[in-house]
Amino acid sequence: NGRHFAGTPGDAAHHAAGPLDEARIRTRFPPEPNGYLHIGHAKSICLNFGLARDFGGACHLRFDDTNPEKEELEYVNAIKEMVQWLGWSWGGNLFEASSYFDFMYAAAEALIDAGHAYVDEQSADEMRANRGDFGKPGVNSPFRDRTPAENLARFREMRDGRHADGAMVLRARIDMASPNINLRDPTLYRIKHAEHHATGAKWCIYPMYTYAHPIEDALERITHSICTLEFEDQRPFYDWLLEHLADLGLLARPLPQQIEFGRLNLNYVVTSKRKLRQLVEEKHVSGWDDPRMPTLVGLRRRGFTPASIRAMVEATGASKQNAWIDDTVLDQALRADLEPQAPRAFAVLQPLKLKLVNYAEVFGSSGHREPCETAAHPHKPELGQRRFSLGPELWIEAEDFVEVPPKGYFRLFPGNKVRLKAGYIVECTGAEKDADGKVTAVLANVVPDTKSGTPGADAVKVKGTIGWVGAHEALAAEVRLYERLFTEPQPDAGGRDFLEFVNPNSLRVVQGFVEPSLADAGAGQRWQFERHGYFVTDRVDHHADRPVFNKITGLKDSFGR
Ligand code: ATP
Ligand code: MG
Ligand code: MG
Repeated sequence: NGRHFAGTPGDAAHHAAGPLDEARIRTRFPPEPNGYLHIGHAKSICLNFGLARDFGGACHLRFDDTNPEKEELEYVNAIKEMVQWLGWSWGGNLFEASSYFDFMYAAAEALIDAGHAYVDEQSADEMRANRGDFGKPGVNSPFRDRTPAENLARFREMRDGRHADGAMVLRARIDMASPNINLRDPTLYRIKHAEHHATGAKWCIYPMYTYAHPIEDALERITHSICTLEFEDQRPFYDWLLEHLADLGLLARPLPQQIEFGRLNLNYVVTSKRKLRQLVEEKHVSGWDDPRMPTLVGLRRRGFTPASIRAMVEATGASKQNAWIDDTVLDQALRADLEPQAPRAFAVLQPLKLKLVNYAEVFGSSGHREPCETAAHPHKPELGQRRFSLGPELWIEAEDFVEVPPKGYFRLFPGNKVRLKAGYIVECTGAEKDADGKVTAVLANVVPDTKSGTPGADAVKVKGTIGWVGAHEALAAEVRLYERLFTEPQPDAGGRDFLEFVNPNSLRVVQGFVEPSLADAGAGQRWQFERHGYFVTDRVDHHADRPVFNKITGLKDSFGR
Protein backbone atom coordinates (compact mmCIF):
# COMPACT_ATOMS: atom_id res chain seq x y z
CA ASN A 1 0.00 0.00 0.00
CA GLY A 2 2.64 2.48 -1.02
CA ARG A 3 1.50 5.51 -2.99
CA HIS A 4 1.48 4.78 -6.66
CA PHE A 5 1.91 7.63 -9.10
CA ALA A 6 0.74 6.80 -12.55
CA GLY A 7 0.74 9.07 -15.57
CA THR A 8 2.61 12.26 -16.14
CA PRO A 9 5.31 13.82 -14.00
CA GLY A 10 2.95 16.68 -13.21
CA ASP A 11 0.47 14.22 -11.73
CA ALA A 12 3.07 12.65 -9.54
CA ALA A 13 4.32 15.95 -8.17
CA HIS A 14 0.76 17.08 -7.62
CA HIS A 15 -0.23 13.95 -5.77
CA ALA A 16 2.90 14.09 -3.68
CA ALA A 17 2.33 17.74 -2.78
CA GLY A 18 -1.31 17.27 -1.87
CA PRO A 19 -1.86 15.48 1.43
CA LEU A 20 1.71 16.03 2.56
CA ASP A 21 1.62 19.78 3.02
CA GLU A 22 1.00 20.29 6.73
CA ALA A 23 4.19 18.86 8.20
CA ARG A 24 6.86 21.49 8.84
CA ILE A 25 9.72 19.10 8.47
CA ARG A 26 9.69 15.85 6.61
CA THR A 27 12.37 13.17 6.85
CA ARG A 28 12.55 9.61 5.60
CA PHE A 29 14.16 6.31 6.46
CA PRO A 30 14.89 4.67 3.09
CA PRO A 31 16.08 1.07 3.52
CA GLU A 32 16.77 -1.15 0.57
CA PRO A 33 14.74 -4.32 1.27
CA ASN A 34 17.66 -6.66 0.64
CA GLY A 35 18.51 -7.72 4.18
CA TYR A 36 17.74 -7.32 7.84
CA LEU A 37 18.22 -4.04 9.67
CA HIS A 38 21.21 -3.74 11.97
CA ILE A 39 22.32 -1.46 14.79
CA GLY A 40 23.66 1.09 12.27
CA HIS A 41 20.19 1.39 10.77
CA ALA A 42 18.82 2.03 14.25
CA LYS A 43 20.89 5.20 14.23
CA SER A 44 19.33 6.38 10.99
CA ILE A 45 15.83 5.37 12.14
CA CYS A 46 16.09 7.19 15.46
CA LEU A 47 17.63 10.25 13.84
CA ASN A 48 14.96 10.56 11.15
CA PHE A 49 11.91 9.61 13.21
CA GLY A 50 13.31 11.54 16.19
CA LEU A 51 13.72 14.77 14.20
CA ALA A 52 10.19 14.46 12.87
CA ARG A 53 8.86 13.92 16.39
CA ASP A 54 10.87 16.76 17.94
CA PHE A 55 9.89 19.31 15.30
CA GLY A 56 6.28 18.37 14.73
CA GLY A 57 7.03 16.81 11.38
CA ALA A 58 6.56 13.50 9.63
CA CYS A 59 8.94 10.68 8.85
CA HIS A 60 8.36 8.43 5.86
CA LEU A 61 9.24 4.78 5.68
CA ARG A 62 10.34 4.35 2.09
CA PHE A 63 11.43 1.07 0.60
CA ASP A 64 14.21 1.95 -1.78
CA ASP A 65 13.37 -0.85 -4.18
CA THR A 66 14.71 0.55 -7.46
CA ASN A 67 17.15 -2.33 -7.87
CA PRO A 68 15.30 -5.25 -9.47
CA GLU A 69 17.35 -7.97 -7.84
CA LYS A 70 17.70 -9.31 -4.33
CA GLU A 71 14.60 -7.81 -2.84
CA GLU A 72 12.19 -9.98 -0.93
CA LEU A 73 8.92 -9.60 0.93
CA GLU A 74 10.53 -11.31 3.92
CA TYR A 75 12.82 -8.29 4.31
CA VAL A 76 10.03 -5.75 3.76
CA ASN A 77 8.01 -7.29 6.58
CA ALA A 78 10.98 -7.62 8.90
CA ILE A 79 11.93 -3.96 8.35
CA LYS A 80 8.42 -2.74 9.17
CA GLU A 81 8.31 -4.90 12.28
CA MET A 82 11.66 -3.60 13.52
CA VAL A 83 10.87 0.09 12.97
CA GLN A 84 7.72 -0.43 15.04
CA TRP A 85 9.55 -2.48 17.64
CA LEU A 86 11.98 0.41 18.09
CA GLY A 87 8.94 2.47 18.98
CA TRP A 88 8.37 4.50 15.80
CA SER A 89 5.39 4.90 13.54
CA TRP A 90 5.27 6.11 9.94
CA GLY A 91 1.53 6.73 10.12
CA GLY A 92 0.20 6.79 6.58
CA ASN A 93 3.61 7.57 5.13
CA LEU A 94 4.66 4.26 3.68
CA PHE A 95 6.20 4.48 0.19
CA GLU A 96 7.88 2.37 -2.42
CA ALA A 97 10.46 3.98 -4.65
CA SER A 98 9.48 1.70 -7.52
CA SER A 99 6.11 3.43 -7.65
CA TYR A 100 7.94 6.48 -9.07
CA PHE A 101 9.39 4.65 -12.08
CA ASP A 102 6.99 6.33 -14.49
CA PHE A 103 7.90 9.76 -13.18
CA MET A 104 11.62 8.97 -13.26
CA TYR A 105 11.36 7.84 -16.84
CA ALA A 106 9.42 10.93 -17.90
CA ALA A 107 11.90 13.16 -16.06
CA ALA A 108 14.73 11.48 -17.96
CA GLU A 109 13.03 12.24 -21.28
CA ALA A 110 12.59 15.86 -20.18
CA LEU A 111 16.30 16.11 -19.35
CA ILE A 112 17.18 14.67 -22.77
CA ASP A 113 14.84 17.11 -24.43
CA ALA A 114 16.49 20.05 -22.68
CA GLY A 115 19.98 18.83 -23.67
CA HIS A 116 20.90 17.79 -20.12
CA ALA A 117 21.22 14.08 -20.79
CA TYR A 118 22.49 11.79 -23.55
CA VAL A 119 22.75 8.14 -24.42
CA ASP A 120 26.32 6.91 -24.30
CA GLU A 121 27.28 3.84 -26.32
CA GLN A 122 30.85 3.59 -25.08
CA SER A 123 31.76 0.31 -23.44
CA ALA A 124 31.99 0.21 -19.67
CA ASP A 125 35.79 0.08 -19.95
CA GLU A 126 35.91 3.10 -22.24
CA MET A 127 33.64 5.02 -19.93
CA ARG A 128 35.81 4.21 -16.95
CA ALA A 129 39.00 5.18 -18.77
CA ASN A 130 37.49 8.42 -20.06
CA ARG A 131 36.18 9.45 -16.65
CA GLY A 132 39.68 10.56 -15.66
CA ASP A 133 40.81 10.64 -12.06
CA PHE A 134 41.58 12.99 -9.20
CA GLY A 135 43.61 15.83 -10.72
CA LYS A 136 43.09 14.44 -14.22
CA PRO A 137 40.12 15.71 -16.21
CA GLY A 138 37.94 13.26 -18.08
CA VAL A 139 37.47 13.01 -21.84
CA ASN A 140 34.17 13.78 -23.52
CA SER A 141 32.33 10.82 -24.96
CA PRO A 142 32.08 10.74 -28.79
CA PHE A 143 28.29 10.37 -28.24
CA ARG A 144 28.02 13.47 -26.07
CA ASP A 145 26.94 15.91 -28.75
CA ARG A 146 24.12 14.06 -30.42
CA THR A 147 20.87 15.98 -30.81
CA PRO A 148 18.07 15.58 -28.25
CA ALA A 149 15.98 13.87 -30.94
CA GLU A 150 18.70 11.25 -31.58
CA ASN A 151 19.14 10.69 -27.85
CA LEU A 152 15.41 10.40 -27.28
CA ALA A 153 15.11 7.78 -30.02
CA ARG A 154 17.99 5.75 -28.51
CA PHE A 155 16.60 6.06 -24.97
CA ARG A 156 13.23 4.77 -26.17
CA GLU A 157 15.00 1.83 -27.83
CA MET A 158 16.64 1.12 -24.48
CA ARG A 159 13.24 1.22 -22.79
CA ASP A 160 11.69 -0.99 -25.46
CA GLY A 161 14.20 -3.75 -24.92
CA ARG A 162 16.00 -3.34 -28.23
CA HIS A 163 19.47 -3.48 -26.66
CA ALA A 164 21.37 -5.86 -24.43
CA ASP A 165 22.46 -5.19 -20.86
CA GLY A 166 25.49 -2.89 -20.88
CA ALA A 167 25.14 -1.84 -24.53
CA MET A 168 24.49 1.79 -23.61
CA VAL A 169 23.50 4.00 -20.69
CA LEU A 170 21.79 7.32 -20.18
CA ARG A 171 24.13 9.94 -18.71
CA ALA A 172 23.66 13.45 -17.37
CA ARG A 173 25.48 16.02 -19.49
CA ILE A 174 27.34 18.10 -16.91
CA ASP A 175 31.14 18.53 -17.01
CA MET A 176 33.78 15.91 -17.78
CA ALA A 177 36.44 18.20 -16.29
CA SER A 178 34.72 18.81 -12.96
CA PRO A 179 37.01 18.39 -9.96
CA ASN A 180 34.15 16.39 -8.45
CA ILE A 181 34.19 13.07 -10.30
CA ASN A 182 30.53 12.54 -9.43
CA LEU A 183 29.71 15.44 -11.76
CA ARG A 184 31.54 13.94 -14.75
CA ASP A 185 28.39 12.97 -16.59
CA PRO A 186 27.04 10.44 -14.07
CA THR A 187 24.94 7.53 -15.27
CA LEU A 188 21.19 7.94 -14.80
CA TYR A 189 19.78 4.76 -16.32
CA ARG A 190 21.17 1.38 -17.23
CA ILE A 191 19.72 -1.55 -19.16
CA LYS A 192 18.90 -4.53 -16.99
CA HIS A 193 16.70 -7.25 -18.41
CA ALA A 194 15.40 -8.32 -15.02
CA GLU A 195 11.98 -8.64 -13.46
CA HIS A 196 11.15 -6.41 -10.55
CA HIS A 197 9.16 -7.73 -7.56
CA ALA A 198 6.67 -4.86 -7.84
CA THR A 199 6.67 -3.83 -11.50
CA GLY A 200 7.25 -7.27 -13.01
CA ALA A 201 8.50 -7.24 -16.59
CA LYS A 202 7.35 -3.69 -17.30
CA TRP A 203 10.86 -2.24 -17.30
CA CYS A 204 14.16 -3.41 -18.70
CA ILE A 205 15.91 -0.16 -17.79
CA TYR A 206 16.34 0.86 -14.19
CA PRO A 207 17.40 4.19 -12.64
CA MET A 208 20.70 4.49 -10.80
CA TYR A 209 20.48 5.15 -7.06
CA THR A 210 22.04 8.60 -7.47
CA TYR A 211 19.33 9.56 -9.95
CA ALA A 212 16.42 7.88 -8.20
CA HIS A 213 17.02 8.96 -4.64
CA PRO A 214 16.81 12.76 -5.05
CA ILE A 215 13.65 12.35 -7.10
CA GLU A 216 12.07 10.12 -4.46
CA ASP A 217 12.88 12.75 -1.83
CA ALA A 218 11.47 15.59 -3.93
CA LEU A 219 8.24 13.79 -4.83
CA GLU A 220 7.61 13.06 -1.17
CA ARG A 221 8.41 16.70 -0.30
CA ILE A 222 11.18 15.63 2.06
CA THR A 223 12.78 18.67 3.71
CA HIS A 224 15.87 17.04 5.23
CA SER A 225 17.33 14.10 3.32
CA ILE A 226 19.65 12.65 5.91
CA CYS A 227 22.32 10.22 4.75
CA THR A 228 25.73 8.95 5.78
CA LEU A 229 28.98 10.81 5.14
CA GLU A 230 30.06 8.84 2.11
CA PHE A 231 27.34 10.64 0.13
CA GLU A 232 28.86 14.07 0.75
CA ASP A 233 30.51 14.11 -2.69
CA GLN A 234 27.16 13.23 -4.24
CA ARG A 235 25.44 16.32 -2.86
CA PRO A 236 26.40 18.58 -5.83
CA PHE A 237 24.72 16.11 -8.20
CA TYR A 238 21.72 15.77 -5.87
CA ASP A 239 21.29 19.56 -6.10
CA TRP A 240 22.07 19.71 -9.85
CA LEU A 241 19.40 17.16 -10.65
CA LEU A 242 16.66 18.66 -8.50
CA GLU A 243 17.38 22.23 -9.66
CA HIS A 244 17.20 21.19 -13.31
CA LEU A 245 13.97 19.24 -12.82
CA ALA A 246 12.47 22.16 -10.91
CA ASP A 247 13.52 24.55 -13.69
CA LEU A 248 11.78 22.24 -16.15
CA GLY A 249 8.63 22.56 -14.05
CA LEU A 250 8.64 18.90 -13.00
CA LEU A 251 9.32 19.41 -9.30
CA ALA A 252 7.95 21.89 -6.80
CA ARG A 253 10.17 24.12 -4.69
CA PRO A 254 11.39 24.27 -1.97
CA LEU A 255 13.58 21.30 -2.82
CA PRO A 256 14.93 18.79 -0.27
CA GLN A 257 18.34 19.38 1.26
CA GLN A 258 20.77 16.52 1.66
CA ILE A 259 22.46 16.46 5.07
CA GLU A 260 25.21 13.99 5.94
CA PHE A 261 26.05 12.49 9.32
CA GLY A 262 28.60 9.97 10.55
CA ARG A 263 27.93 6.24 10.41
CA LEU A 264 27.53 4.36 13.63
CA ASN A 265 30.14 1.64 13.95
CA LEU A 266 30.35 -0.67 16.92
CA ASN A 267 33.52 -2.34 18.10
CA TYR A 268 33.50 -6.17 17.85
CA VAL A 269 30.67 -6.01 15.33
CA VAL A 270 30.31 -5.94 11.54
CA THR A 271 27.39 -4.01 10.07
CA SER A 272 27.57 -4.62 6.36
CA LYS A 273 24.56 -6.56 5.12
CA ARG A 274 26.80 -8.58 2.84
CA LYS A 275 29.00 -9.69 5.74
CA LEU A 276 26.02 -10.39 7.98
CA ARG A 277 24.56 -12.55 5.22
CA GLN A 278 27.86 -14.43 5.00
CA LEU A 279 27.76 -15.17 8.73
CA VAL A 280 24.27 -16.62 8.30
CA GLU A 281 24.86 -18.52 5.07
CA GLU A 282 28.14 -20.02 6.22
CA LYS A 283 26.47 -21.00 9.50
CA HIS A 284 28.73 -19.12 11.88
CA VAL A 285 25.47 -18.18 13.57
CA SER A 286 22.04 -19.83 13.66
CA GLY A 287 20.29 -17.17 11.57
CA TRP A 288 19.66 -13.44 11.13
CA ASP A 289 18.11 -13.43 14.60
CA ASP A 290 20.92 -15.28 16.32
CA PRO A 291 21.34 -13.48 19.68
CA ARG A 292 24.97 -12.72 18.83
CA MET A 293 24.07 -10.83 15.65
CA PRO A 294 24.03 -6.99 15.54
CA THR A 295 20.80 -7.16 13.55
CA LEU A 296 17.79 -5.66 15.29
CA VAL A 297 16.07 -9.06 15.25
CA GLY A 298 19.21 -10.52 16.84
CA LEU A 299 19.43 -7.78 19.48
CA ARG A 300 15.74 -8.24 20.27
CA ARG A 301 16.17 -11.98 20.70
CA ARG A 302 19.27 -11.42 22.84
CA GLY A 303 17.02 -9.39 25.13
CA PHE A 304 17.99 -5.79 24.39
CA THR A 305 15.07 -3.43 24.92
CA PRO A 306 13.99 -0.85 22.32
CA ALA A 307 14.60 1.83 24.98
CA SER A 308 18.19 0.69 25.48
CA ILE A 309 18.89 0.80 21.75
CA ARG A 310 17.35 4.27 21.43
CA ALA A 311 19.30 5.49 24.45
CA MET A 312 22.55 4.11 23.06
CA VAL A 313 21.98 5.72 19.68
CA GLU A 314 21.08 9.03 21.30
CA ALA A 315 24.13 8.90 23.57
CA THR A 316 26.37 8.66 20.52
CA GLY A 317 24.81 11.77 18.94
CA ALA A 318 24.75 12.84 15.30
CA SER A 319 28.10 14.15 14.17
CA LYS A 320 30.16 14.68 11.05
CA GLN A 321 32.48 11.89 12.13
CA ASN A 322 32.20 8.15 11.53
CA ALA A 323 32.22 7.18 15.18
CA TRP A 324 33.54 3.88 16.50
CA ILE A 325 31.53 3.17 19.60
CA ASP A 326 32.51 0.62 22.19
CA ASP A 327 30.04 -2.27 22.28
CA THR A 328 29.88 -1.86 26.07
CA VAL A 329 27.89 1.36 25.54
CA LEU A 330 24.94 -0.76 24.49
CA ASP A 331 25.30 -3.00 27.55
CA GLN A 332 25.39 0.04 29.80
CA ALA A 333 22.23 1.38 28.21
CA LEU A 334 20.55 -1.98 28.79
CA ARG A 335 21.52 -2.02 32.46
CA ALA A 336 20.34 1.55 32.93
CA ASP A 337 16.99 0.54 31.44
CA LEU A 338 16.55 -2.76 33.30
CA GLU A 339 18.11 -2.06 36.71
CA PRO A 340 15.14 0.02 37.91
CA GLN A 341 12.46 -2.32 36.56
CA ALA A 342 13.58 -5.92 36.01
CA PRO A 343 12.38 -8.34 38.70
CA ARG A 344 15.12 -10.23 40.50
CA ALA A 345 15.40 -14.00 40.62
CA PHE A 346 17.75 -16.68 41.87
CA ALA A 347 19.44 -18.78 39.23
CA VAL A 348 22.18 -21.33 39.69
CA LEU A 349 24.20 -21.73 36.51
CA GLN A 350 26.86 -24.18 37.68
CA PRO A 351 24.90 -26.23 40.21
CA LEU A 352 26.37 -27.93 43.25
CA LYS A 353 24.18 -29.73 45.82
CA LEU A 354 24.03 -28.32 49.35
CA LYS A 355 22.71 -30.80 51.93
CA LEU A 356 21.34 -29.42 55.19
CA VAL A 357 22.38 -32.19 57.55
CA ASN A 358 20.32 -31.16 60.61
CA TYR A 359 17.24 -30.18 58.58
CA ALA A 360 14.83 -32.74 60.10
CA GLU A 361 15.99 -31.86 63.61
CA VAL A 362 15.43 -28.13 63.13
CA PHE A 363 12.13 -28.33 61.21
CA GLY A 364 10.66 -31.54 62.65
CA SER A 365 10.78 -33.63 59.47
CA SER A 366 12.72 -33.77 56.20
CA GLY A 367 9.38 -33.46 54.41
CA HIS A 368 8.79 -30.00 55.85
CA ARG A 369 8.99 -27.05 53.44
CA GLU A 370 9.91 -23.81 55.13
CA PRO A 371 8.32 -20.90 53.23
CA CYS A 372 10.62 -17.99 52.38
CA GLU A 373 10.00 -14.76 50.52
CA THR A 374 11.71 -11.59 49.36
CA ALA A 375 10.89 -8.54 47.26
CA ALA A 376 10.80 -9.07 43.48
CA HIS A 377 12.64 -5.74 43.22
CA PRO A 378 14.47 -3.92 46.04
CA HIS A 379 13.01 -0.49 45.15
CA LYS A 380 9.70 -1.43 43.56
CA PRO A 381 7.30 -2.81 46.17
CA GLU A 382 4.55 -2.78 43.53
CA LEU A 383 6.24 -5.76 41.88
CA GLY A 384 5.32 -7.79 44.96
CA GLN A 385 7.06 -10.71 46.65
CA ARG A 386 8.84 -13.76 45.27
CA ARG A 387 7.93 -16.87 47.21
CA PHE A 388 9.91 -20.11 47.45
CA SER A 389 10.80 -22.59 50.12
CA LEU A 390 13.65 -24.26 51.92
CA GLY A 391 14.02 -28.04 51.93
CA PRO A 392 16.78 -30.43 53.02
CA GLU A 393 18.61 -30.18 49.68
CA LEU A 394 19.41 -27.04 47.74
CA TRP A 395 21.27 -26.04 44.61
CA ILE A 396 24.02 -23.51 45.05
CA GLU A 397 26.62 -22.08 42.68
CA ALA A 398 29.71 -24.33 42.55
CA GLU A 399 31.99 -21.33 43.12
CA ASP A 400 30.26 -20.62 46.43
CA PHE A 401 32.15 -23.47 48.10
CA VAL A 402 35.88 -24.07 48.48
CA GLU A 403 37.70 -26.47 50.75
CA VAL A 404 40.56 -24.10 51.44
CA PRO A 405 39.47 -20.47 51.26
CA PRO A 406 41.73 -17.89 49.61
CA LYS A 407 42.19 -14.62 51.50
CA GLY A 408 38.98 -12.58 51.56
CA TYR A 409 36.70 -15.52 50.65
CA PHE A 410 33.57 -15.32 52.82
CA ARG A 411 31.33 -17.95 51.30
CA LEU A 412 31.12 -21.66 52.15
CA PHE A 413 34.16 -23.52 53.48
CA PRO A 414 34.34 -25.96 56.37
CA GLY A 415 33.68 -24.13 59.66
CA ASN A 416 32.29 -20.93 58.04
CA LYS A 417 28.79 -19.52 58.30
CA VAL A 418 26.92 -17.77 55.46
CA ARG A 419 23.40 -16.55 54.96
CA LEU A 420 21.22 -18.25 52.38
CA LYS A 421 19.70 -15.09 50.98
CA ALA A 422 16.08 -14.63 52.12
CA GLY A 423 16.53 -17.85 54.14
CA TYR A 424 18.62 -19.07 57.05
CA ILE A 425 22.20 -18.90 58.15
CA VAL A 426 24.00 -22.21 57.59
CA GLU A 427 27.34 -23.45 58.89
CA CYS A 428 29.43 -25.57 56.54
CA THR A 429 30.59 -28.87 58.03
CA GLY A 430 32.36 -30.46 55.07
CA ALA A 431 31.71 -32.03 51.68
CA GLU A 432 30.99 -35.35 49.99
CA LYS A 433 33.41 -36.43 47.29
CA ASP A 434 33.54 -39.05 44.58
CA ALA A 435 36.35 -41.55 44.05
CA ASP A 436 38.41 -38.93 42.18
CA GLY A 437 38.16 -36.49 45.07
CA LYS A 438 35.70 -34.25 43.23
CA VAL A 439 33.19 -32.50 45.50
CA THR A 440 29.70 -33.87 44.81
CA ALA A 441 27.81 -32.17 47.64
CA VAL A 442 28.45 -29.59 50.33
CA LEU A 443 27.29 -30.34 53.86
CA ALA A 444 25.99 -27.74 56.30
CA ASN A 445 23.85 -27.28 59.39
CA VAL A 446 21.00 -24.80 59.58
CA VAL A 447 21.46 -22.32 62.43
CA PRO A 448 18.00 -22.21 64.10
CA ASP A 449 16.12 -18.94 64.57
CA THR A 450 18.09 -17.03 61.93
CA LYS A 451 15.44 -16.76 59.23
CA SER A 452 15.68 -13.51 57.24
CA GLY A 453 13.07 -10.98 58.33
CA THR A 454 12.43 -12.56 61.75
CA PRO A 455 13.45 -11.07 65.10
CA GLY A 456 16.89 -12.34 66.01
CA ALA A 457 17.89 -13.00 62.41
CA ASP A 458 20.85 -10.68 62.91
CA ALA A 459 22.05 -12.19 66.19
CA VAL A 460 24.58 -14.31 64.33
CA LYS A 461 26.97 -12.23 62.21
CA VAL A 462 28.12 -13.52 58.83
CA LYS A 463 30.26 -11.94 56.11
CA GLY A 464 28.84 -13.84 53.14
CA THR A 465 25.42 -14.23 51.54
CA ILE A 466 24.71 -16.68 48.72
CA GLY A 467 21.84 -17.41 46.34
CA TRP A 468 20.15 -20.81 46.31
CA VAL A 469 17.22 -22.75 44.90
CA GLY A 470 15.42 -25.56 46.72
CA ALA A 471 16.15 -28.84 44.93
CA HIS A 472 12.52 -29.91 45.52
CA GLU A 473 11.13 -27.02 43.49
CA ALA A 474 13.96 -25.80 41.23
CA LEU A 475 13.13 -25.43 37.56
CA ALA A 476 15.71 -26.98 35.28
CA ALA A 477 16.62 -24.49 32.56
CA GLU A 478 18.89 -24.20 29.58
CA VAL A 479 20.92 -21.02 29.87
CA ARG A 480 22.78 -19.60 26.88
CA LEU A 481 25.82 -17.53 27.76
CA TYR A 482 27.23 -15.28 25.08
CA GLU A 483 30.51 -13.60 24.42
CA ARG A 484 31.41 -11.26 21.59
CA LEU A 485 31.06 -12.78 18.13
CA PHE A 486 34.51 -11.48 17.17
CA THR A 487 37.84 -11.54 18.93
CA GLU A 488 38.99 -8.27 17.32
CA PRO A 489 37.48 -4.82 17.85
CA GLN A 490 37.43 -4.06 14.10
CA PRO A 491 37.33 -7.47 12.44
CA ASP A 492 36.81 -6.06 8.94
CA ALA A 493 39.24 -3.15 9.13
CA GLY A 494 41.84 -2.74 6.41
CA GLY A 495 40.29 -5.28 4.06
CA ARG A 496 41.01 -8.20 6.41
CA ASP A 497 38.92 -11.35 6.24
CA PHE A 498 36.56 -10.80 9.16
CA LEU A 499 35.71 -14.52 9.28
CA GLU A 500 39.20 -15.23 10.63
CA PHE A 501 38.22 -13.41 13.81
CA VAL A 502 35.00 -15.23 14.62
CA ASN A 503 35.14 -16.13 18.31
CA PRO A 504 34.81 -19.93 18.63
CA ASN A 505 33.58 -19.52 22.22
CA SER A 506 30.88 -16.96 21.59
CA LEU A 507 28.14 -19.32 22.78
CA ARG A 508 28.25 -21.56 25.85
CA VAL A 509 25.18 -23.50 26.87
CA VAL A 510 24.75 -24.58 30.48
CA GLN A 511 22.05 -26.52 32.30
CA GLY A 512 21.11 -24.65 35.43
CA PHE A 513 18.26 -24.17 37.86
CA VAL A 514 16.01 -21.17 38.43
CA GLU A 515 13.61 -20.38 41.25
CA PRO A 516 9.99 -21.57 40.99
CA SER A 517 8.56 -18.05 40.57
CA LEU A 518 9.74 -18.26 36.96
CA ALA A 519 7.44 -21.17 36.16
CA ASP A 520 4.99 -18.93 34.29
CA ALA A 521 7.63 -17.02 32.34
CA GLY A 522 6.45 -16.03 28.90
CA ALA A 523 8.80 -15.70 25.94
CA GLY A 524 10.71 -12.42 25.87
CA GLN A 525 10.43 -11.70 29.61
CA ARG A 526 13.46 -10.27 31.41
CA TRP A 527 15.00 -10.69 34.86
CA GLN A 528 18.05 -9.78 36.78
CA PHE A 529 19.47 -13.09 37.97
CA GLU A 530 21.12 -12.04 41.19
CA ARG A 531 24.91 -11.85 40.89
CA HIS A 532 24.81 -13.11 37.27
CA GLY A 533 23.35 -10.33 35.17
CA TYR A 534 20.33 -9.72 32.96
CA PHE A 535 18.54 -12.58 31.26
CA VAL A 536 15.59 -13.01 28.92
CA THR A 537 13.53 -16.04 27.98
CA ASP A 538 14.39 -16.94 24.40
CA ARG A 539 11.58 -15.82 22.11
CA VAL A 540 12.00 -18.83 19.83
CA ASP A 541 13.04 -21.80 21.96
CA HIS A 542 11.59 -21.06 25.38
CA HIS A 543 8.61 -23.15 26.53
CA ALA A 544 7.10 -23.23 30.01
CA ASP A 545 8.00 -26.92 30.35
CA ARG A 546 11.46 -26.44 28.85
CA PRO A 547 12.73 -23.00 29.88
CA VAL A 548 15.50 -21.39 27.83
CA PHE A 549 17.20 -18.18 28.94
CA ASN A 550 19.63 -15.92 27.09
CA LYS A 551 22.16 -13.87 28.98
CA ILE A 552 21.78 -10.30 27.78
CA THR A 553 24.70 -8.83 29.68
CA GLY A 554 26.42 -9.02 33.04
CA LEU A 555 25.90 -6.71 36.00
CA LYS A 556 29.00 -4.76 35.04
CA ASP A 557 31.45 -4.62 32.15
CA SER A 558 33.86 -7.48 31.91
CA PHE A 559 35.92 -8.95 29.12
CA GLY A 560 33.67 -10.51 26.51
CA ARG A 561 30.69 -8.85 28.21
P1 ATP B 1 24.69 -1.96 4.01
O1 ATP B 1 25.88 -1.17 3.61
O2 ATP B 1 24.86 -2.78 5.25
O3 ATP B 1 24.10 -2.74 2.89
P2 ATP B 1 23.01 0.23 3.50
O4 ATP B 1 23.46 1.53 3.98
O5 ATP B 1 23.24 -0.05 2.07
O6 ATP B 1 23.62 -0.88 4.44
P3 ATP B 1 20.24 0.71 3.37
O7 ATP B 1 19.13 -0.23 3.53
O8 ATP B 1 20.44 1.34 2.06
O9 ATP B 1 21.51 -0.07 3.84
O10 ATP B 1 20.22 1.81 4.51
C1 ATP B 1 19.09 2.52 4.91
C2 ATP B 1 19.54 3.75 5.65
O11 ATP B 1 20.30 3.41 6.81
C3 ATP B 1 20.42 4.63 4.80
O12 ATP B 1 19.94 5.96 4.88
C4 ATP B 1 21.78 4.49 5.41
O13 ATP B 1 22.51 5.67 5.28
C5 ATP B 1 21.47 4.18 6.86
N1 ATP B 1 22.55 3.42 7.49
C6 ATP B 1 23.01 2.22 7.13
N2 ATP B 1 24.04 1.82 7.89
C7 ATP B 1 24.25 2.82 8.78
C8 ATP B 1 25.19 3.03 9.86
N3 ATP B 1 26.12 2.12 10.17
N4 ATP B 1 25.10 4.17 10.57
C9 ATP B 1 24.17 5.06 10.27
N5 ATP B 1 23.27 4.95 9.29
C10 ATP B 1 23.30 3.85 8.54
MG1 MG C 1 22.03 0.97 0.45
MG1 MG D 1 25.54 -0.06 1.59
